[in-house]
Amino acid sequence: MSNKTELIGLSKEELTAALTALGEKSFRAKQLWQWLYYFGAADFEQMTNLSKVLRQKLAENFTITRPKIVTEQISSDKTHKWLLEFADGQRVEMVYIPEEDRGAVCISTQVGCAVGCRFCHTGSQKLTRNLTAAEIVSQFMVARDSYGEWPSPTNETRYLSNIVVMGMGEPLHNMENVIKALNILTDGDGIAISRRRVTMSTSGIAPRIVEALQRTGVRLAVSLHAPNNKLRSQIMPINNVYSIDEVLSACQKYQSGDGSRYITFEYLLLDGINDSPECAHELIALMKKYGLRASFNLIPFNPWPGCVFQPSPNSRVKAFARELENAGFAAPVRVARGQDILAACGQLKSKKDIEDNKSEA
Ligand code: SAH
Ligand code: SF4
Repeated sequence: MSNKTELIGLSKEELTAALTALGEKSFRAKQLWQWLYYFGAADFEQMTNLSKVLRQKLAENFTITRPKIVTEQISSDKTHKWLLEFADGQRVEMVYIPEEDRGAVCISTQVGCAVGCRFCHTGSQKLTRNLTAAEIVSQFMVARDSYGEWPSPTNETRYLSNIVVMGMGEPLHNMENVIKALNILTDGDGIAISRRRVTMSTSGIAPRIVEALQRTGVRLAVSLHAPNNKLRSQIMPINNVYSIDEVLSACQKYQSGDGSRYITFEYLLLDGINDSPECAHELIALMKKYGLRASFNLIPFNPWPGCVFQPSPNSRVKAFARELENAGFAAPVRVARGQDILAACGQLKSKKDIEDNKSEA
């Protein structure tokens, strides 16, 4: 193991401290930050406004690491999936979901997840470890490398315009690293993704919601998936720890700080479980009770081997959406993307994992 310090994932303050510890002036930190995050330099030799001597000194003391791309697939609808591997061999997936002239990169925050939602393939894998801030930031940097989006293009011209923290893992179970990473990704002197174009999805770790959003300024999505505690606890055991009331009260508190902020509630439609018109009515009543400015994202369930649930039939999904829309809520149904390469953001799974699971069974 090298004892060099990894630069990716250091905050601006930490980067400055690392350079001053080497006897360098603090403005060097600004230059370095720009090389790392604005120009996307992966090598000190590229940093041509630094002297050769300094470049050498940096290379002796620091590293700039990207995760290794194990496999990469592009689906017929242009959805792009990467299987990435970190230094210790742990792997996560990342997906880019392109729209017409922009698109969202879905990044992971943990290897596995301890929340254990019953419909989620990641949740069935238990938690292996948290990702570091470096590992979270460098995922997105790999996507930028692939699309040649360096130096940071302006907001209007970039294809990788949005980030959704909806890959593997529960971001609020790895809160400090996630906050640090999001603040690097949205820093205006570097990668500069607008905070409003970053959405963090949580299963509802209620006591951390407000703080995480205040410290990052990103948007909130909450995986609600059920309109009452009885049902939600059945499919999301975390509901026994943080009930719907605690989660929605935190949402209320978040909105009271900034009234313009809509919250997206993700709602996975599971056949015969949570997809009835009664469930839709209960959901509407819940939103009204808490006075939340909310929109919904109705998610078709992506089944995986060994899972007990089935996706709701289309007709019921549409009827559910209609109920919400009639009550004045936006309720788009998420379009399944990258089906031919098993790339569904939020339910990332590698074909290899499934094969491994099968062989274990
Ligand atoms: N842990 C966070 C973020 C990652 S999961 C969270 O739970 O919100 C992102 C989204 O994908 C969540 O809304 C999750 O409920 C959803 N999801 C999980 N398994 C899924 C599946 N099999 N099909 C479709 N969506 C799924
Ligand atoms: Fe974890 Fe989110 Fe999957 Fe639940 S849905 S197990 S919180 S990754």
